[in-house]
Amino acid sequence: MFPLSQTTCQQQEHLSKSRPRLILHLRARSFDRNNVLILESILYFCKKAIAVNELTVSKVEVADSRLTVSFDCKGRIKKFFYDNKFIAEYDTSVEEIPEATLVIPFLATIAPIAWVNQAEVFVETVDETFLSSLDHIRETLQKFYPQLKFGGKIQAEKIVSPHVNTRTRRMALFSGGVDSWATFIRHQDENPILVSVQDVRFTAPNRPSRYHDLMNVSSDYLKRAFGSVKPENRIIRSNLEYVPRLFMLDMLLISAKEISGNWYQGVMHGLALTGLCAPLTYLEKVDKLYIASSFTADAQLPWGSHPEIDNKIEWTGTRVEHDGYELSRQDKLFLIADYIMRKDSKLQICTCIDNLARKRFNIGVGKNCNQCEKCSRTILGLEIAGIDPNEHGFSTDAQTFSRMRKNIEDGTWRFGDDERYMWIDLQKHASNAREIPHYEARILIEWLRKIDVKSLKSSAYRNKSLRYRFIRKTRLFPLLMALPYPILQLMRKFFGAVFG
Ligand SMILES: [Zn+2]
Repeated sequence: MFPLSQTTCQQQEHLSKSRPRLILHLRARSFDRNNVLILESILYFCKKAIAVNELTVSKVEVADSRLTVSFDCKGRIKKFFYDNKFIAEYDTSVEEIPEATLVIPFLATIAPIAWVNQAEVFVETVDETFLSSLDHIRETLQKFYPQLKFGGKIQAEKIVSPHVNTRTRRMALFSGGVDSWATFIRHQDENPILVSVQDVRFTAPNRPSRYHDLMNVSSDYLKRAFGSVKPENRIIRSNLEYVPRLFMLDMLLISAKEISGNWYQGVMHGLALTGLCAPLTYLEKVDKLYIASSFTADAQLPWGSHPEIDNKIEWTGTRVEHDGYELSRQDKLFLIADYIMRKDSKLQICTCIDNLARKRFNIGVGKNCNQCEKCSRTILGLEIAGIDPNEHGFSTDAQTFSRMRKNIEDGTWRFGDDERYMWIDLQKHASNAREIPHYEARILIEWLRKIDVKSLKSSAYRNKSLRYRFIRKTRLFPLLMALPYPILQLMRKFFGAVFG
């Protein structure tokens, strides 16, 4: 800063050079030099005030199994958060865990939001290994999304390496879907602890309409998902999906001409979900945490969980591994089919993340709707692998397969790049299908082999809701960004369904 009293002749000279027009203009109106300096200082402080863009962690609290991280935002970044309390609830006490580890779940969720806003994050203590891994992840995200600028900085008062004992255990994120089942099967000999995450809004009645979902997992599902094999299951409940204003972040992607427009899937989930496990890895002495792959190398999609992101995630004593990248979804279904036949004939898959469909058909958490595109292609994939879906978490009837064909033909399902990639995978494997349990499925697979999947109706946005199209078409995002925060909050209060 340069207060008036300390302004030197040199600075005055500099000001004169930097604002010649202003000075000339003012001189013309008979202002003296002091008036000019007052104006210059006002301008300087206004500019400073506008430029403030920061997030400060104000408190990290632990009460038995609940971790609460409170934070304050100033400037542009404030618009990207609903709540200023991040909560994670574990199924065990986390009171003995060092603060540098406790703050990882929060930083893992908010770091990309800070980067994309070029905001500074202030935190008291941070894990040195994790801080350095964040730098690498930021570089990857910048590569994935060159239209956006991933800047900003995480500043810590203390950068530490918490003492950890020898670690030998393994852990894997487990959603009950095809990918995480394949990871469990591949690493079963390592006896991994399976961790499932539930998204929970702990407070406030104004629940935003949900269009993302973390994992469709319930304790009841975990009890019946396994047959003779009984792995250790853990559940983490967190509001990580409700702290950021995902709608604004989606808009940010869309406005940058990214196809998916889905922050959670395109940027957030790999880092946020693995980071959430950090306190548990400390308690359980876990040296490696697996997160299942969604795609293979030929997908070429920027995605929030990717070897170039996940394999760089690390904190003292634990590193993350992106698992199964060499296997396509159908390869994994063949692997699961072999496991079902060899070891666990009761295995239950829970893949559905279509909340709206489950609500429409009155189907609870931990179950499949059997109607949505993802349930349908998993049903078909199991048929191709020679497994009856009805015995492994799904329910089919005479109409199931004809409905799939209709939904594809009439464009009811509009495919994003990732869905199209999955159907191409199904088509590729249709020729080496095992004995298909249902006749109707056989007919559908024959049809699938002949169609041009690449030309199926597509959608530019994963979420096809009216608000997305409206905002995209009207270019409303810059207006939303320009609105003062209280007005944005007020709009959300009255038009909650529209503004997430
Ligand atoms: Zn479904």
